[in-house]
Parts: sequence; C-alpha cells; structure tokens
Amino acid sequence: MLTLIATLLSACALATPPAPPFPTFVLVTQDPNASPTPTPFQPSANENTLIPSYTPAPPITNTFTATATLQPTATFTLEPTQPAINTTAPQVTVPPVANARTNYILYVTLDFANHTLAVDETIRYYNTTGAVLTDILLSVQPNRFGSAVFGLNSIAQDSVSIASYNLSGQSLSISLPQALQPNAATTLTLNFNLNLPSKSAEGLFGYDFNQINLVDWYPFVVPYNGGWVLHDPMPFGEHLVYDSSDIEVNLKADASIVIAASAPAEQNGEWTRYRLYGARTFTLSASDEFLVAESAVGSVKIRSYYFDGYKAAGESILYSAVQAVSLYSAKFADYPYQTLAIVQADIHDGQEYDGLIFLASDFYSQYGGGARNNLTTIGVHEIAHQWWFGLVGNDQALEPWLDEALSAYTERIFYEYNYPRYGDWWWQFRVDYFGAQGYVDSSIYDWGSQRAYVNAVYLNGAHFMEELRLRMGDADFFRFLKAYAAQYAHQRATGAGFFAVARANTTADLSDLIAKYFSSAY
Ligand SMILES: [Zn+2]
Repeated sequence: MLTLIATLLSACALATPPAPPFPTFVLVTQDPNASPTPTPFQPSANENTLIPSYTPAPPITNTFTATATLQPTATFTLEPTQPAINTTAPQVTVPPVANARTNYILYVTLDFANHTLAVDETIRYYNTTGAVLTDILLSVQPNRFGSAVFGLNSIAQDSVSIASYNLSGQSLSISLPQALQPNAATTLTLNFNLNLPSKSAEGLFGYDFNQINLVDWYPFVVPYNGGWVLHDPMPFGEHLVYDSSDIEVNLKADASIVIAASAPAEQNGEWTRYRLYGARTFTLSASDEFLVAESAVGSVKIRSYYFDGYKAAGESILYSAVQAVSLYSAKFADYPYQTLAIVQADIHDGQEYDGLIFLASDFYSQYGGGARNNLTTIGVHEIAHQWWFGLVGNDQALEPWLDEALSAYTERIFYEYNYPRYGDWWWQFRVDYFGAQGYVDSSIYDWGSQRAYVNAVYLNGAHFMEELRLRMGDADFFRFLKAYAAQYAHQRATGAGFFAVARANTTADLSDLIAKYFSSAY
C-alpha cells in the first residue's frame, strides 16, 4: 500500500510552488516505438533511448486441458519450462521442475449490475516444498467479509469431492485424502459465488457506484516455507505472501462494461480470456464509465482508465507510466508482463498488483499539471512495484522494506533521470517532510500507526538506499539491482539474499550502514 496519509500529502502538495509547464506529448495507440519527449538528462550512452527491447514469452508449446465444467475444451498454454499437464489425471509424480509454478484457471461470470460472480476455479498445484503434504492451505480473502460474500459450493481434489475442509476467516484448509508426495502434482477444483460487498472507504475490494474491483478475490495456495505462510491482516501494510503463478481468467460480462485487467484480453469463444504468466495475483477493475488512454513501451501496452472530467490527469499518468516503464526496464529488468493498467479509484492513495495499479481519485482531482504532485510520485511508485513485488517477490508482512523501500527509492531514480532538477523537491515532498526514522527492516506488526510504519520502512528505507548507492558507487549499485532482479525473478527475496547480492557486487564494507538502519545483523 502506499505511503502517505492523504491529508498530509494534500497539505504538502498545496504548499508546493507551481511546477513548470508539463512537456507536451502525443498519445500513441499503435506505434510500438512510441517515445516520450526526450529526457533532459541521459545517464549513459547505452540508455540514449529509454525504450527497451522487450520480447514477450515465446509461443507456448504445452497444452493444458482444463476441467472447468463451463468450458471443457479450453486450452491453457504454459511457458516452455513446464511439463505438459493434464488436470483430469489423478495425482501423479512429475519430474522435479525448477520453478514449477501453480496454475490457476478461472471461468467467471460477472453480473455487474447485481455485483455478483459465479466462478469455476481449477488449481494445478506442484509440491515443490520437499515435504510430504497432508493438507493444503488456501488464502480466501473474500471470506474476511463474511459468508454472505464468499459462498463455497463445492471443492474436489483430482475429481474426488472433498468433505474435510475448514473455512475460517481468510483461510481455507483442506485435508488431503491422499498425502501429496514431493514433486507430485494435484488438481483442486472449486465452485464458488461472490456476492460483492460495498467497497469500504479504506479498501478496494467490492463495488462502488460505478466500479467493481476484484483484488485478492479468488482462493490461492499460499507459499510453504516449513509451514504454510498466511499472516494475520493489519489495518495498514500488506499481509499476503504469494508464490509466482500462471493464471488464466475467462470472463463473461455485459459488453457495455469496460474491463481493466492484469493481462491483455483475447476472445475465447463466448469468453474473454486473460492469461498472466509468472505473477503473484490477477486483478481486474470493471466500470460502465471508464474512459481509456493508451500508449506503449516497445510491445508493452499501457492503458490509463479514468473517469469523465479527469482527462488531463488520466493522460498525464499515462505519460509518466511510459517514462517509468522505459527507465525501470533499462535499469532493473524487462517489464515482467505484457500490459500495464492504471486505474482511477476512490481510495486514499495507491495500490499495486501485477500488471495493474490503482490510484486515488483525489490525486486526479488535485492534479494541476507538471510532475511535482501525488499523481506522479505515487503513480511511479506503484509502477516500481511491478519489479519490487511482482517480479521480485517478498514476505510483505515480515520484510515489507524489500518492496516498499525499493519502490520508494525508485521514485527518486525516476525523478533523477526524468526531472533531475526536482531531486531536492522529491526528498522534501516525499521523505523529509514526514521525518524518516526507525528500523528499515520493521514488520507491519511493529508499529502502532501507519505513519510510524511508513517513516521507518519506506522513508528511512529510501535514505538507506541512497547511502548504499553512495557507498557502492553508481556502477556497482545498478549492477547489483540488475543482479538482484535476475536472481530473484519470480521468486521471493529475503533481506539476507538482498545483502548477499549486494556484497557480491561491491568491495565496500556495508556493516556500519546495516547497523545504522537495520535491527538485524545480516
Ligand atoms: Zn508501495
């Protein structure tokens, strides 16, 4: 979740001097080489064009036959590293496959007007834990809103109905009739209904008068790390931890509804199909009032979904997104997905998901031009999470700095390369105004308020990253970030892993920096 309390941000934004004229740009819908106005500062010769070449995953050779009752002939194509799968097969032992990701296939009928969904979900789960599993734990976030919201109609393992499960709060624990051996795979099928709640002022999930947001909306198997990892929710900070997975969503909705989603839409018979590879979670937002502006960075389509009256802001954040995706792709790793959706919503700040971010309507209404505003800072922060959350995962509850400190500091990198004169403004507006303090490696449970949590994890985290960069030097620092993104792509990084890669890329002694900013020794 984002950073700053909206009221404080607003006050701070109003105190900001007028920004210089925003560079003009032309929205491009087709040109794959669409380029923003040339940046005023070029970091190095090989980044004279900040348009990276991005090659989407190669066409898929394996075929996955879904057992979903609504579309038995559907095929789900897997990335080449995965074995062919037949979900109709009983539990089988497959050869050990590095990165054998869990597959999700969902058939979803959305009744926008009545805020309801009927869902068939098929989960192909690979036991890569090394342990014999006698149970499987799924996260079911909609059930936190009550049994009136999440209605589980049936659940089966390898086509055998399961009667022994425990659905309580956010967790669905399934006792397996047959233990799942290491390197074996099994298929779970669920049928459920969602009767969406009215969206709360603080949250995203549910329906608003003109919008439905589906975030963390389907049951997913939580990571296993000597035990199932499903932390308690907190009022602030994210508590969920995700393995990287492949997700296919087949959707039926009224044609008048515009869908913003984590992946590109394709026709699949009477369904609209979305396929997302190597992601933590699939998110969508639906509205009968969305307006859309579109651009691209290489083959990555970027769309801004905004509401009537917010055209300038909707196009501005699209422009910033082109800048951000271009720069981050050059500095960290290729953008991990095929598309990016930026979605206006009635929330307090911003929220990241794979291939889709939400930004507060207040940022759109406060927008007055230029790049010195919440819309831009928070927007490029949430886009940074595509790398530091989506591509490189982490335990968001226990080590939130791994995605939040890095995304906060990535804002600084964004301004440095795109608006170098705004560097001091950024430090003051985003960090020092609030007083950065506290251990960077705090968990979401360590602080009594969001302000204190953010000051430590995000803001002191940004100062730590700046000092780390000064200590290492730019060449080693950016080589380190690329190596870190490569090593932990589609995995979950840890603090120990972060520093191991850092030390592999520098001869500098980091121990005093770690002692200054961290409670752990690393
Ligand atoms: Zn964040």
